[in-house]
Amino acid sequence: MLKVGIIGRPNVGKSTLFNKITGSRSAIVNDMPGVTRDRLEKVTEWLGVRFTVVDSAGFDLKEEIIKKEMQQQFFTLLDEVDVCLLMVDVTEGVHSLDEIVCNLLREKGKTFFLVVNKVDSEKREYLASEFYRLGVSEMFLISSEHGRNVDMLLDRVLDEA
Ligand code: GDP
Ligand code: MG
Repeated sequence: MLKVGIIGRPNVGKSTLFNKITGSRSAIVNDMPGVTRDRLEKVTEWLGVRFTVVDSAGFDLKEEIIKKEMQQQFFTLLDEVDVCLLMVDVTEGVHSLDEIVCNLLREKGKTFFLVVNKVDSEKREYLASEFYRLGVSEMFLISSEHGRNVDMLLDRVLDEA
């Protein structure tokens, strides 16, 4: 069964997407960065195909170069999943940490998609162009909250199943 991990800096909307995909409220969505301490895993289904989604704590360099255990969790997650959704926030622009993680995923040869979240309306789409400089071939502009383009993303992800 395909295992999909949602990764990204705190507060970009990972848990919101997790809840949208799994149709649940199990992941705590919070305005305070770093609320999802532990990973959360759920089996769900899209167009008849079952797969596992993992919500993660999010990586952050501010907290003493990531708390050691969070860093460990992050690398364990990377090894476990087949596909990574690297989520960024369109309202925040490119962070250096996004670049670092992009490069790491490339080095590891991971299949990953860049998911630009909080593109709530067409008006915000132009803001996303800055993320092209991360050089990721497949980029999705979505709104986890409104469900915008989430179906398109899942169609693509499940191609990997
Ligand atoms: P996480 O830390 O990456 O898991 O982020 P959360 O899912 O907890 O969301 C952080 C904040 O971003 C919350 O206030 C969410 O309501 C908000 N958020 C998540 N997705 C969207 C979105 O698509 N659009 C907007 N405008 N806000 C969002
Ligand atoms: Mg979260």
